[in-house]
Amino acid sequence: MTDPILPSLFLSHGSPMLALDTNNPAHAFLTKLGKSLPTPKAVLVVSAHWETAAPRITDTAQPVTIHDFHGFPEPLYELRYPASGNHALAHQVAALLNQAADMDTIRGLDHGAWVPLLLMYPRAEIPVVQLSLQTPLGPAHHLKLGKALAPLRAQGVLIIGSGGATHNLREYFHQGGDHHPYEAFSAWLQVILTRGDHDALLDYRQRAPQAARNHPTEEHFLPLFVALGAGGSRAVRLHHSFDRTLCMDAYQFED
Ligand code: ZN
Repeated sequence: MTDPILPSLFLSHGSPMLALDTNNPAHAFLTKLGKSLPTPKAVLVVSAHWETAAPRITDTAQPVTIHDFHGFPEPLYELRYPASGNHALAHQVAALLNQAADMDTIRGLDHGAWVPLLLMYPRAEIPVVQLSLQTPLGPAHHLKLGKALAPLRAQGVLIIGSGGATHNLREYFHQGGDHHPYEAFSAWLQVILTRGDHDALLDYRQRAPQAARNHPTEEHFLPLFVALGAGGSRAVRLHHSFDRTLCMDAYQFED
């Protein structure tokens, strides 16, 4: 039997509290999402929380759970995501990137990876590999990265870009959490992705409504380009909600 070709995903991971906050609509969405997809053999995550000058790939037998955040309630620090790594997949990713990537045999999974996976696949039975972002290289580089990874989808690998559809943390904490200024960007994104207008998307900092306010820095938006490149141009918005100013939208990409 041949493996089903998996879609790729862009997920907004929001605050780390998403792992525990059952009142957050994105929490409920992610707990259902895992069951709605064919079960992957492995997961490859590109998270906003791992940035390096050149691509790096985790090649760890048992990646540790990294609690890369401060000042949250103690139960969040007690969570672990004990999925194994996948040596063969890590090396295949390197090969697809023409060996222009370094292996990292120490790093574990950051919260951009493990929070969504804890909700999607709580039994942690599916091996996980992470690939880093190169934020200064911008959208086109990450679209190209994603395109290089596309063949993995036919091998049962679920490719996830984990970031945020909008990500202004300063206003999350200081502006009373009003999400209305962020609605236009979220709506623009849906129109552009549904239309498959990749030129507009690549130029989002000029063309999207208040792009710099929605993404003061780019690292939470760039995983979207990896997911888009890996998945193809047929985009479906799977989820839409806000956690205060953070847009929690999720997209699925297929050929
Ligand atoms: Zn984040």
